[in-house]
Amino acid sequence: MYITIMKLTLQIKLLPDDEQAKSLLTTLKEANSACNQISNVVWEKKVFNQFKVHHLVYHPLKNATRLSAQMLIRCISKVVDAYKLDKKRKRIFKPLGAITYDPRILSYNIEKQIVSIWSINGRLKIPFICHNPKYLPYIKGEADLVYKKGKFYLFQTVEIPEEDVKNVEEFIGVDFGINKIATLSDGTNFSSDELNQVRDKYFKTRKSVQSKGTTGSKKLLKRLKGREQRHAALINHTISKAIVEKAKTESKGIAIEDLTYIRERTKVRKAQRRRHHSWAFAQLRSFLEYKAKLAGISFVVTDPRYTSKICNICKVIGNRNGKHFFCPNCGNVSDADINAARNIAQLGAFCKQPRKDVSMLNFISHIPLKAPSNL
Ligand SMILES: [Zn+2]
Repeated sequence: MYITIMKLTLQIKLLPDDEQAKSLLTTLKEANSACNQISNVVWEKKVFNQFKVHHLVYHPLKNATRLSAQMLIRCISKVVDAYKLDKKRKRIFKPLGAITYDPRILSYNIEKQIVSIWSINGRLKIPFICHNPKYLPYIKGEADLVYKKGKFYLFQTVEIPEEDVKNVEEFIGVDFGINKIATLSDGTNFSSDELNQVRDKYFKTRKSVQSKGTTGSKKLLKRLKGREQRHAALINHTISKAIVEKAKTESKGIAIEDLTYIRERTKVRKAQRRRHHSWAFAQLRSFLEYKAKLAGISFVVTDPRYTSKICNICKVIGNRNGKHFFCPNCGNVSDADINAARNIAQLGAFCKQPRKDVSMLNFISHIPLKAPSNL
């Protein structure tokens, strides 16, 4: 028997007092300044191997800076990692860029909600808040100290053992779409109105800001983008949570379509294309997947071909007329998205494990019904 581990990143907000905040800022500056000095050596000597870089820079910098041995090692790693992508240009680090901590220089007291974090001025004991406290006991490995808009955060790695996936017979099928973000096989749907309104609002603001083209407007654009993404992420979190809760309550699995096909499959009008392309489908899928895994819910990715074309009752190809699906064989008339979601649910129950090689074609060849002649 083995336990599967899932790695997630936990956002932890630090609440330093003024003195502690100053110490953290100085620490960031000194560490990043060391990174730039290391980068100089790496670039001039064209030495990119961690061990060799360490040999070159460790002692000189240990003497010249106030960084602890472990922090200096983290800085060397940061520089070496930065050059891993390519060695064509010299890396320069921002004075307040993120730095990495490991358990030797950072520890948590979960009960008291206090971190003990190394700084230039010694260890600091700083209170923290975390919106997902249930994951705190699973803290493991490294964390990035990030300074953003005057606030300090730790992006901490957590390793959570996945619950045993329960064996289920039935699945909730999820159909993703443009007008409705997600339609479930039981008819529940999640409208994309709110998301589209948010997008349109930011799109208009972006356009008017873009036309100015000043440095200030560039910064504003970046902020707007961040705000839009956070808003979309919040919507995706809400939807994925609702679907997983439903699956849990009804003791069902969750089946979705492989989204790599979604762009080819959906025909979108030009006005919708902009929305479509910036859609956060991939994010919704990943949220659904990890939340399902955490809850021990079976999660299946199915082949999306024919799921919207075949009648979920008799498995013959039908006609789609706008929002409606009509089956000429059995007379089934239903909402096109619900029809697709039901096919996905049935496919999920059919394959029962995460594999994409089961398509509607395999599926219908396994059921004692007349296979459609027009496939
Ligand atoms: Zn039918």
